Amino acid sequence: MKHIAVGGFFHESNTFNPIVTGVDDFIIFEGQEVYTKGVHYQQAQGIVDYFRKRKDCRLIPLVFARAVPNGEVDGDLYQWLKERFFALLEDQPQPDIFVLALHGSMRVQGRGSAESDLLGEIRRRYPRTPIVSGLDMHATVTTQMLEYADAFVGYKTAPHIDAWETGQHAARMADMILTKGGQLSMAAVKLPYLIAGEKSETDTEPMRGLIDELRDVESREGVCAASYLLGFPWADAEENGITALVVTDNDPELADELAGQLAERFEEVKDGFGFSSPAHPPEQALRLALQDDCKPVFVSDSGDNPTAGSTGDNTTIIQLLSGELKHLSESKKVLVAGIYDDAAYQICQASGGDVITLSVGGRYDDKYSQPVELTGRVTKHVASFGPFGSGLVLFDAGSFDLIITSRHIGFTGVDMFEALDIDYLNKDVIVVKLGYLTPDFKEIAAKSYLALSRGCTDEVLTRLEYSASYELL
Ligand SMILES: [Zn+2]
Repeated sequence: MKHIAVGGFFHESNTFNPIVTGVDDFIIFEGQEVYTKGVHYQQAQGIVDYFRKRKDCRLIPLVFARAVPNGEVDGDLYQWLKERFFALLEDQPQPDIFVLALHGSMRVQGRGSAESDLLGEIRRRYPRTPIVSGLDMHATVTTQMLEYADAFVGYKTAPHIDAWETGQHAARMADMILTKGGQLSMAAVKLPYLIAGEKSETDTEPMRGLIDELRDVESREGVCAASYLLGFPWADAEENGITALVVTDNDPELADELAGQLAERFEEVKDGFGFSSPAHPPEQALRLALQDDCKPVFVSDSGDNPTAGSTGDNTTIIQLLSGELKHLSESKKVLVAGIYDDAAYQICQASGGDVITLSVGGRYDDKYSQPVELTGRVTKHVASFGPFGSGLVLFDAGSFDLIITSRHIGFTGVDMFEALDIDYLNKDVIVVKLGYLTPDFKEIAAKSYLALSRGCTDEVLTRLEYSASYELL
């Protein structure tokens, strides 16, 4: 019987966002709960699904913690998660392997890379137990992570739709070690570039070709995994940048050679990265969208994208729609999804549909925006939405409808619109706090623009301050 310890922490930490990510922001579960709650953590679910029916394996599920990207993680919370992770190994047989579902760009206040710290602690306590892990495509691979782990494999899709498959891939590599007693060889080459996520969608060149390259490499005899880990551009983190990484079946020379080739391939195409949608300053993007005659036209408020760790409360867009562009938005059906503002949500919730004047947003992002005063009324309220249980209200501000959330969540699918009974196909313009559109939105978008707004996820990386020097693509 092989004993497989499985667990994972998953957070993308944006160092430009002043919010400290705390316990209420995380979905946390442990032990047997993974069998019911793993659905909220697809990478972990992929690992569990691989091993759970095997008669020769027994899983030891540890701690799983996943949050929407946000500011750095609270130090005490991380310490508590880590202690629970190791406490659950007490009274258990010695694990034969650790198979983890990690992000790779989780940062802890005052401590830096969470993955370096966690993997280091496992290595210290279990010096001879192999460690295999899946990673998000935006993992920031550190020297320590490479030293402590035996094998990594990253997502191959952006938008990320292969988290479960990546968990399965990590599990397959772990299985090679367990059943064949094999030793995997991992090699990585780092490149000092940062790319905005919106320039590296995997159905657009040059990323599409690079992913094809990875699949070619993986089809070669003796290769277990090939990945490009792109780093996370909205973190002023040490060792940020691109990593070309290859894992082979005990062939270090082949791993070195192929990682070098992948790095060279990246160098060859690096000048080809660009936005896949028309990108304009926010005022111009909105003006174009409001003058289009197809619908719904999507505008991504890309400088404040909570799915890349922004505050979610930048008010640039609603400022424009209620001010300078009000004459255009009044004659159109406009939906803004949305603003994270718990205080405004609470006032709305208590308003009972009366006309109220409300100060919205600009609480956390006070660098690039300020609170905006809106007068209108609540037309719909949902007490708990999605896995993070956020409250939602739909606020009719006259020239547009605004979704206000009680929790820091992403605006990623039509399920939120459906929960609020929004006739979204009939909207002329839908503004989302997002970068590239999710598959859900792509399917219904008649057209889309990227608004290059300022904020913690500024797509124009040269407008952000980094302490190390990177080439910004
Ligand atoms: Zn990512």
